[in-house]
Amino acid sequence: MRMRFEDQRIRLVNELKLEGITSPVVLNAFAKVPREYYVLPEYRDYAYQNRPLPIKEGQTISQPLMIAIMLQLLDLQPTDIVLEIGTGSGYQSALLAEIVKEVCTVERLETLSLNAQKILRNAGYNNIYFRIGDGYSGWQKAYPPHKEFDKILVSAAAREVPKHLVEQLKTGGKMAIPIGKTGFQILYIVTKTEDGLDIAEAGGCSFVPLVCDDKTLR
Ligand code: SAH
Repeated sequence: MRMRFEDQRIRLVNELKLEGITSPVVLNAFAKVPREYYVLPEYRDYAYQNRPLPIKEGQTISQPLMIAIMLQLLDLQPTDIVLEIGTGSGYQSALLAEIVKEVCTVERLETLSLNAQKILRNAGYNNIYFRIGDGYSGWQKAYPPHKEFDKILVSAAAREVPKHLVEQLKTGGKMAIPIGKTGFQILYIVTKTEDGLDIAEAGGCSFVPLVCDDKTLR
């Protein structure tokens, strides 16, 4: 017989601890959000395996450990306003919404965004705002009228740090962004300081590409 999802979720949290995740807010968020809601029905039995899984449109729901690493490195605060690029399944949006004040999330594929919006609304989140469009241009929406964010999380692989995302990061703010070619990238933590950008490497990773529809936005 299959373990109950609740028990599988506890097991995943323990696995994240063994892998070096120590942030109580991050572990708590993983203990709360049911990943089985965000995967395709045919993959529900694999929802708590620590790996990425296919979602619609040839995209993936990120690996739990990879999300946990990014969330931990971002040093999220309950007062933070966060910009997420690549809504995808909405799973990471839910984890963020458990920890911070507001999440503004951008997805270029309408089908995925609408699907995530439905699941997240049903789950009761009222601190997540959605935009369908190219994340290279950042938020760009009248409501909520944020021009700058405390944290930015890019969950697809970029070729460079998008200039509009740097503009929309507060001084003192942090951005997690995988940079590199298809297949393998390096995760970078970019901190915006008074003097410019402080860029730190945080290990290897593998994300689907951040698609650039309009090259002038790069
Ligand atoms: N955190 C998500 C990751 C989804 S995969 C999850 O765990 O489900 C990355 C997503 O980024 C895909 O849905 C893809 O369509 C989206 N994406 C790719 N390029 C983009 C762009 N330029 N702007 C916005 N979203 C983009």
